[in-house]
Amino acid sequence: MASNASELRKVAFIDLEAQQARIRPQVDAAIKRVLDHGQYIMGPEIAELEAALASLSGAKHVVSCASGTDALLIGMMALGLKPGDAVLCPGFTYTATPEAIALLGATPIFIDVDGSDFNLDPAGIAAGTALARAKGLNPVGLIAVDLFGLPADYEAIRAAAGDMWIIADAAQSLGAETPAGKVGTFGTITATSFFPAKPLGCYGDGGAILTDDPNLASICESIRLHGRSTIDKYDIERIGVNGRLDTIQAAILLQKLSIFEEEIALRQQVAARYNAAFADIAAVPPMSEGTTSVWAQYTLKVPPARRDAIMAALKAKGIPTAVYYPRPLHHQGAYRHYPFTGNGLPVSESLSAEVMSLPMHPYLAEDEQDYIIAGVREALLAEA
Ligand SMILES: *Cc1c(COP(=O)(O)O)cnc(C)c1O
Repeated sequence: MASNASELRKVAFIDLEAQQARIRPQVDAAIKRVLDHGQYIMGPEIAELEAALASLSGAKHVVSCASGTDALLIGMMALGLKPGDAVLCPGFTYTATPEAIALLGATPIFIDVDGSDFNLDPAGIAAGTALARAKGLNPVGLIAVDLFGLPADYEAIRAAAGDMWIIADAAQSLGAETPAGKVGTFGTITATSFFPAKPLGCYGDGGAILTDDPNLASICESIRLHGRSTIDKYDIERIGVNGRLDTIQAAILLQKLSIFEEEIALRQQVAARYNAAFADIAAVPPMSEGTTSVWAQYTLKVPPARRDAIMAALKAKGIPTAVYYPRPLHHQGAYRHYPFTGNGLPVSESLSAEVMSLPMHPYLAEDEQDYIIAGVREALLAEA
């Protein structure tokens, strides 16, 4: 059905209800099985989910945990991060990325991102490690973020990172792949999130650590469970956290996994239509052969001075938009005193003023897409 641009509709930014309607009976049955067996903590669905995620990603070991933030925390505890260490990370990301670095008493060093794909710019790594050393810190690792669902350039990052470890913050990108492999296999450790709005979300908080290193995986398993030995449960061999995923969330995720790859393909269709519709009037996100994004967000760059007006015009048409992220982290109160390279991070700073994310989910019907496309084109082309 052709849509009429003057007719008013209400579009969902992310539609979790449509997804739930599709799999509700399976989810109800999965939750009921957990209520019946009663193993709410570390029940059988946990190992089942970890095996399913290993086969989805190609990672050899998967350790589920309580959130994406805990995945980063547990991962860096396992890597032995400590005061005096520095970890490089992008200035343009969600606040959880640097949080665990600071919590462990180490120092986040913010470096800039690439203006076309929003991901960490490998060219900034050398300046980041030099800055760490100049401050008397030991640069031990870096966190690359697969922002909005697109894997960072791990080949270039690895080449520039020397012997530093690499954590892939894949909270937004699980399910994506590049010619080099799938998300989950790029970092020393990959951290992902099952927050409800992520491409693979549960009905609460959840996350996972993925790694090919059996020793790191076993340390993460121990840390997730108060530092308990994985061999003798009465032996507490390190300081850990209570970082387990709930069995109920694992059961829900197993049902969502059964439609995940199909959902990724549907997101890609929406993104391809958006890109074709906006390429002549806005800076659209990159798409390249062989590299896929799972489109956690579909993000355009618009003229900063007009962003508020564009968003207001879309809101008036029932089209929600969002700004991820309105401030780079080195400008946030909690992180302002941590080092950043250069005189600032010009790309992170300008992206914060330019970005605007559109409704994106697998269940955006074609007529809804047409309505959004017409609305966005009209708002972008309106006289300033
Ligand atoms: C969501 C997110 C996190 C944190 O995940 P939670 O499960 O909410 O703790 C970390 N990094 C990035 C880039 C994210 O988008």
